Amino acid sequence: MHIQHHPLPCTSLGTQRTLTSLHFGRRGARPKVYIQASLHADELPGMLVAHHLRGLLTALENQGRLLGEVVLVPVANPIGLAQRIDHRPLGRFELATSENFNRHYPDLAEEAWQRVGAALGPNPDANIRRVREAVLAWLDEQRPCTELQGLRLLLLRLAADADVVLDLHCDFEAVLHLYSETACWPALEPLAAWLGTQTVLVADYGAGGQPFDEQLSGLWSQLRARLAAAGRHDVPLPQACASTTVELRGEADVDHTLAAQDAQAIVCYLHHLGAAQGDVAQPPPALRCAVTPLAGTELLRAPHPGVIVFVVPVGSRLAPGAHVADIVDPLSGQVTALTTQHGGVLYARTRERYACAGLEVAKVAGVQPIRSGSLLSA
Ligand SMILES: [Zn+2]
Repeated sequence: MHIQHHPLPCTSLGTQRTLTSLHFGRRGARPKVYIQASLHADELPGMLVAHHLRGLLTALENQGRLLGEVVLVPVANPIGLAQRIDHRPLGRFELATSENFNRHYPDLAEEAWQRVGAALGPNPDANIRRVREAVLAWLDEQRPCTELQGLRLLLLRLAADADVVLDLHCDFEAVLHLYSETACWPALEPLAAWLGTQTVLVADYGAGGQPFDEQLSGLWSQLRARLAAAGRHDVPLPQACASTTVELRGEADVDHTLAAQDAQAIVCYLHHLGAAQGDVAQPPPALRCAVTPLAGTELLRAPHPGVIVFVVPVGSRLAPGAHVADIVDPLSGQVTALTTQHGGVLYARTRERYACAGLEVAKVAGVQPIRSGSLLSA
């Protein structure tokens, strides 16, 4: 393993932050797998998984069993990690801009299309190489002004030529679930199975806000879309990157047993990909859930203010009409039962127990699309 420290642009006099990446295997070896943790800086389970992965990857490397390249960024957001207000962490939005750290990533497909769209030809491997070179060259040319812009470009620079990208997040209180672009299935299915994922949410490109994982997989799906729109059906362009946001349960699920288990699941996937070699490889277990559309997620909101009392745990499989929580107004005595209209897996819920009117209290993964437009939360 070797460690690289990348300075971020200096936003304010006398202050400089650094992003640190850990590199395993030979540079340029394939497949390349990129893993980052805690881009939303107060979502810590991934940071602990990265710690356990570091040990497993170091052992594989020392035994000569790491065939691919793995880049691990255990602390993907040093800016957000330092932000606190009133003694509470604030790692989702940058205080200076109110921007979500996992939104506003540049449209890599557009940049690649401008540079090499016309040069893509009949050889799929040559096309992949051209696109990757174009994107890395564009990233190298950027001159970010602020540390947030610098952070986004640096993370993309480390990940843009990876075959697989895992962005480790978590929800408030949740079971393990995955988000990805539809184009990345079934490539990610063995990972989901080894992780014991209880919900998989897929959406076509454009789920909203340009998050990190979507720009990396979207590079390929959106270039294909441009080729198709131009009538160039004879130009093969494989989906050369499978990227996913892995939601490692809830914020408080920071636990050595769970983290070691998740790290081992990722190593099993590395074996499956051919990035690691040895006797750990095994067929993945059956996926524990159906792959459901992100547009099928039902958001249960508080219709009035009150105390939230959940009556079922996360992970519950609910029939249409099932009771999820009560909203209790102790001033009027009103108690409103929140129920799911469509049913599905209760995969995430708020960590708060007081709701202002309209608060998103719980999320249920249903099988039928019921939403359109921007599908991601703020
Ligand atoms: Zn997150």
